[in-house]
Amino acid sequence: MRRTRKTKILATLGPASSSPEKIRALFEAGADVFRINMSHTSRTALADIHGRLRALESEVKRPIGILVDLQGPKIRLGTFGGGKADIAVGAEVRLIRKVEADGPGTIPIPHPEVFTALTPGEQVLIDDGRLGLRIKSVGSDSAEAVVEQGGTLKDRKGVNLPDTELPIAAMTPKDRSDLDSALNLGVDWVALSFVQRPEDVAELRKVVAGRAAVLAKIEKPRAIERLADILVFADALMVARGDLGVELPLEAVPGKQKFITREARKAGKPVVVATQMLESMIQMPQPTRAEVSDVATAVFEGADAVMLSAETAAGSYPVEAVAMMDKIATKVEGDPLFQQILDAQRSPPEETTPDAIIAAVHEVTQTIHARAIVSWTKSGSTGLRAARQRPGAPIIALTPILATARRLALAWGLHCVLTEDAHDLDDMVDRAARIALEEGFAEAGDRIVITAGLPLGTPGATNLLRVVFVGGKG
Ligand code: PGA
Ligand code: MN
Repeated sequence: MRRTRKTKILATLGPASSSPEKIRALFEAGADVFRINMSHTSRTALADIHGRLRALESEVKRPIGILVDLQGPKIRLGTFGGGKADIAVGAEVRLIRKVEADGPGTIPIPHPEVFTALTPGEQVLIDDGRLGLRIKSVGSDSAEAVVEQGGTLKDRKGVNLPDTELPIAAMTPKDRSDLDSALNLGVDWVALSFVQRPEDVAELRKVVAGRAAVLAKIEKPRAIERLADILVFADALMVARGDLGVELPLEAVPGKQKFITREARKAGKPVVVATQMLESMIQMPQPTRAEVSDVATAVFEGADAVMLSAETAAGSYPVEAVAMMDKIATKVEGDPLFQQILDAQRSPPEETTPDAIIAAVHEVTQTIHARAIVSWTKSGSTGLRAARQRPGAPIIALTPILATARRLALAWGLHCVLTEDAHDLDDMVDRAARIALEEGFAEAGDRIVITAGLPLGTPGATNLLRVVFVGGKG
């Protein structure tokens, strides 16, 4: 089964979509990678869903990626006795380091680190930014603040501190247990929420120890400031516009989306654009014009993947939402401006042999109108370097390692096929041509461009380019 789309679709699973039938319908509609959000999923449910996805993968015989999203150190309010409390603009309130409010005008935040880290002048945003406070003074277990945006506080709502770097661990005890379960199951990607520092990603990377690939969710202004260093430790990024849109003014998010997307593309690491992409499809079978335009913008920008959250996890039209994303991406990729825009943003090759080969592949493919690029890739790194070029021709990534094929499901333009290592040069060429034909990417007489590494089977050794006729002799 071949998809013609290059931008990948990441669909979040939840109550609306976790049955084997629904998962299959989402896959058939176009989902390439499935996200399991540990903020809303138990470890038992994780194991069940993982099993269903692996069963589907063997049925459809296409590698399917599984991404587990760790909740991360999210700050939450305590409780208010009656479940809620009203605060008015201009009122003076007191934040207290307690689990429960202590009478009117007090707001419980049971996280000691908040009081160590807050400084006067900083903002405290509550409930997705619906309410806002400005800090006036801070003590060891309380802080005085003035209400800038009033409303009703409810028990355990989320708190965002956009100006503050919190001295908290990258992973909570819950994250560590969730991670342990996910790694034992053998998921492909692990995503970390509320990344503040490069060290946060390094910490996750250390625990994961190569058993999965690591994605850093960029949802704090601090993380954007340190993006280059975060990119060193992350295998992929997510533009997590939900929390980013709380921590930054909404109008600042599109610019940051472009910045994060371009930095990830330069580094040759997958980037996912996430949150509210087809939000109205939670309730309606059709999206708004603005939502369609939003998905299209991410595709035109060359994002590796576009994501659906509540649309597929909890909405009334999960399959329709994936089908709509598939239609939008396919249409945009066929637009005459699409390749022009991608070409204008192409990063020059780095000074490595694989990058030089891939730059040459790109030239050759364009010059002779080759039908496909076939890359032998073991760790997946050559596949990703080929995708970094955002070429017009489809890229078939051949790998003997199932974990590589699954991880690459998130990457732009890569169609992965599992096949054993080539035995010799002839086998390497013949098999590439046969797979291009079998998978529907070329017909007899078409030319394809092949990359591989000699000695065969050495990871990262890409140093060879061959042009061959499919169904004929090279
Ligand atoms: P979330 O992350 O859905 O886990 O909050 C995505 C975002 O914040 O955009
Ligand atoms: Mn988030």
